[in-house]
Amino acid sequence: MLTQFENQLADFLSNNAQVRKIDFHFENAGGGFHISPQGFARVARAIRQERIRACTGSTSLGAGIAGLYYQNTNRFELVSDVFPAAVNPRGIIVHEAVHALIDLCKCVATTRLSDEAAAYLAQVVFMFQNGRRTFTRPQYTAAYDLAKASGIIDPATNAVHAGVRLTWQQYEPLRREIHNRPAYQTVGWLAPTGASGIAMAPQHPCTL
Ligand SMILES: [Zn+2]
Repeated sequence: MLTQFENQLADFLSNNAQVRKIDFHFENAGGGFHISPQGFARVARAIRQERIRACTGSTSLGAGIAGLYYQNTNRFELVSDVFPAAVNPRGIIVHEAVHALIDLCKCVATTRLSDEAAAYLAQVVFMFQNGRRTFTRPQYTAAYDLAKASGIIDPATNAVHAGVRLTWQQYEPLRREIHNRPAYQTVGWLAPTGASGIAMAPQHPCTL
């Protein structure tokens, strides 16, 4: 049985109007991947099928980390028991849902840094639609700059454009900015993502 949080998470990912405007492609030599409303809806479906679980009330995440998605165990792990109403924690959920989507599509040809770059980009496109125009941490600023330069977002008109295709050359600066962060410095530049696919069978509910 789904928890209330899982129900809300699945509803958010499949129905939220701003999530439904996040739609871009990452191109690369391995074929790339597509972050799309259909993809977020697939993650929502996997949650409703209990193939992806959400564990809440975590006390073991690091300082300042509100949530993570683990590609090896197919689980979100979140600090709050209550589905957030505020933009910042919702943005983190969007970020982690990108990692879930990469896991679900078993996009093993992509790299960990491109997986992260797509997650930060989706997060800022979501936050942009909620009025955010400035970011302090460099990887967010780089993601916002990429969203603007590539035409995904237009701050002059508040528009969000679907279907933009990003080349490696376009998203490489964002990869580099992420790689410069202490948490990612030990990740190899071309280390593969941990996406391992998601089993068809329902998973047990979380016991943290
Ligand atoms: Zn991430």
